[in-house]
Amino acid sequence: MRDQTLAIHAGYKKDEQGTMAVPIYQTTAYEFRDADHAANLFALKELGNIYTRLMNPTTDVFEKRFAALEGGAAGVGTASGMAAIFYAIANVAEAGDNIIVAKQVYGGTTTLTGHTIKRFGIETRYFDVNNPSELEALIDEKSKLILFESITNPSIDVPDFEAIVAIADRHGVLSCVDNTVATPILCKPLALGCDLTVHSASKYTTGQGLAIGGIIVERENLVEKIKDNARYAHFNEPDQSYHGLVYSDLPLPLFTLRARLALLRDLGAAPSPFNSWLYIQGLETLPLRMRQHSSSALAIAEFLENHPRVKKVNYPGLPSDKNYHLAQKYLRDGNSGLLSFEVEDLESAKRIANATEIFKLVVNIGDSKSIITHPASTTHQQLSAQELIDAGVPAGLIRLSVGLEDTGDLIADLKRAFEY
Ligand code: PLP
Repeated sequence: MRDQTLAIHAGYKKDEQGTMAVPIYQTTAYEFRDADHAANLFALKELGNIYTRLMNPTTDVFEKRFAALEGGAAGVGTASGMAAIFYAIANVAEAGDNIIVAKQVYGGTTTLTGHTIKRFGIETRYFDVNNPSELEALIDEKSKLILFESITNPSIDVPDFEAIVAIADRHGVLSCVDNTVATPILCKPLALGCDLTVHSASKYTTGQGLAIGGIIVERENLVEKIKDNARYAHFNEPDQSYHGLVYSDLPLPLFTLRARLALLRDLGAAPSPFNSWLYIQGLETLPLRMRQHSSSALAIAEFLENHPRVKKVNYPGLPSDKNYHLAQKYLRDGNSGLLSFEVEDLESAKRIANATEIFKLVVNIGDSKSIITHPASTTHQQLSAQELIDAGVPAGLIRLSVGLEDTGDLIADLKRAFEY
């Protein structure tokens, strides 16, 4: 089935009520048939509902539908995109290990990897996403994950997936793509050979800025890469916290299962059923919306490219953009709604951001409502001068998240703001 059909039907089997819309199972816990049923569920001899921190029928539809769109084996929902990224790391790395992360990532990912997990003893090594060959020198026997974004936020780079995957596979290291900006509609990292994707569902998934959430998706047959791989010994040895379970022996998608059974159990950032229901509503229109976001963003990028005050426009849909050929190769049906452009300096950028009326000054992306952000003074404020340069965020950079308003109105709004 194609995306537009999966987005509307995947993962939902109606119960005896026959409800067309997926119900919201707003519950904390589930009654067991008897003590043996409970014991079987806990022992994974039978799969079923135990407690909403671990699973929920509404969240289950969201996870299955999202995984189907990604072309993955399974997904596990989380309470935020940051929780999804943290769990993807925590599922493989422990004190003494390292992960390798693109320099060009969302500011929260930079602070998580550069500061917070450092305090847990996990080292982060950074590579330039535009130069994957840097990875070779960074990987050693303690490297557990290579993490990068499919369209980087806010520098709007598109990585060379094939080059990164080839190096990751040669060393037997898991690759993980934050596919938030591209969404599974415009980019299919798992089909490109990546092992995992993570998402902030807070963005295009809800599509209207309605809720905070995230998801991790794993590819089919991931066990082949993890089984007997010394890097991932904890997937191959008995888990003492789960009465000796060996994840790589199970006939189930093992990465998301461990994230659920160990990390959601112990760390607890589970999505609320109501939020999962919102993501399901959003997914139904995701393919349509991504096409519209993309075509409007391209028209705005073309307008900006011809504006005398604009030094540079970053949008991979523009033939002049350095990522155009990679985008043509790895993205499909559009280049998403995110673009950035550079004006003279910090003060000019602030003045423009203050002057737009339809573009609202907000730190978010992927909303139906258009958004203007000045990263250097907001999302990336905590980054040092060097980190700002590494993340591709000059002081005069403005980021736009192009919404679903009329494209002509949006261009007129920017035109006015430049004259202000
Ligand atoms: N990944 C990307 C690319 C993002 O842009 C964001 C948030 O802006 C996140 C992850 C974090 O997601 P959340 O805000 O849902 O925690």
